[in-house]
Amino acid sequence: MEKLSNFCSEIKAVIGENETLSVADARNVVKSINDFLYTNYPGIGNTLELGEYREYFSDFHKFWETHHKEILDCKIDDEKCELVADALHAIYVKSNGDAFTELYDTCGLKKQEICRVRFLTANQDFRGSLNFSNLANKYISDSSIFDEKYIYEDPEGFVHDIGISSLSQNDKRISYAKTIAGFLLDKGTTPYGLINIYNRDISLLREAIIGCDGAGYGNKKTDMFLRDMVVLGVWENISGFDKIDVASDLNTIKVALRTGIIKTEIPLVSSFLDIFCYQYSYIDAMNALAWRRVWEIWKRKYPSECVESPCLIDYFVYKVIGKQFCKDNLYLFECETKEHTFYWHSHQNKTCQVCREKGLGRKTASRIGRVMPCSCKEGYKAFLASEYVRSLPEDKKISECPFKDICGENRNLQPPKSISILGQTGWTSAYTKKNEGGGGLMA
Ligand SMILES: [Zn+2]
Ligand SMILES: [Zn+2]
Repeated sequence: MEKLSNFCSEIKAVIGENETLSVADARNVVKSINDFLYTNYPGIGNTLELGEYREYFSDFHKFWETHHKEILDCKIDDEKCELVADALHAIYVKSNGDAFTELYDTCGLKKQEICRVRFLTANQDFRGSLNFSNLANKYISDSSIFDEKYIYEDPEGFVHDIGISSLSQNDKRISYAKTIAGFLLDKGTTPYGLINIYNRDISLLREAIIGCDGAGYGNKKTDMFLRDMVVLGVWENISGFDKIDVASDLNTIKVALRTGIIKTEIPLVSSFLDIFCYQYSYIDAMNALAWRRVWEIWKRKYPSECVESPCLIDYFVYKVIGKQFCKDNLYLFECETKEHTFYWHSHQNKTCQVCREKGLGRKTASRIGRVMPCSCKEGYKAFLASEYVRSLPEDKKISECPFKDICGENRNLQPPKSISILGQTGWTSAYTKKNEGGGGLMA
């Protein structure tokens, strides 16, 4: 606490007994805040991050590294976890489990082929940008593209052939392709055969893939790959699947915060304060633990009506709740007559739907606001229009959010953002020294 205490004393000394600050004092305060948060000095010291010692960004950085956990004090709320578990169970029963399995079109590829295409490309899937059917069709047109020997020899050619060389971070993609091909060559097996090397234990294979440095397979992409192989039935009779966590990301964190399964003592801080992303990593880890807790309760209460692993909660919570339900996508319109307003699911609407309903002809309407559908009586309009609900058979449709009675006042909480450590717009390009001025990011 010393660093922050010193900083506070500094500010206190400036204001002294005065009620308001003079311009000269205010100037000193601004300088102090900037120095404390965003400047460093010779001898400030280093911290080990991403495999290298890196200079502390500022005194606040030092404070934040040591104290972010006790300041935020993120806790898992078991009661909320049980409510969420019950809600997920109800969805499971109503959908016969379908709500938790997203099966994508595998274009008739055999198990071995699905595994090969996915294993060699899942590490390239930044932000879910790759479409499996596209890749499958490239495999069908020339399967040698996905041969690990060729990839190892010419990783750039592979990146080009699968059509991602125009996407961002090309150098990184090429090195990921080469490293993962090298991993396979080392093991002397096919992607499909990998599971046998690890006694058909998914969690052991997971450790091995994550342990392959520089292949682009972090927790999230590894879990996504393994989950797909199990859900698509590529690998059967395996163990350790229940050790795989929910793929932590903004949407699952958002839903965790809003349902209250995780709670922090203060609202999450802005990414501008989260130097080197300690808050993000902490919340990310707590999020995975909380969804695991939800799963444990669900499994204990309804053992025969439960998904096989916490990672299978992901599809519904991320794609359905996070991306389609839990956002302000219900729009408020006002009629050109200014006599009435109404809610509508599409922001592109131009018609007064009230006048139309009453047979008063086609009047125009303009958009004057937007709300979360779960906070509004007419929320069903947005839910029924969502991609997920439209895909359900008539008797299975839902017209409200399954978590609507759980969220309460947490409904507007926002997930954390993070500024990366490396890269052109990362923390390590934002350094400056005290009294040199400048520093920060140009984005
Ligand atoms: Zn009208
Ligand atoms: Zn809600």
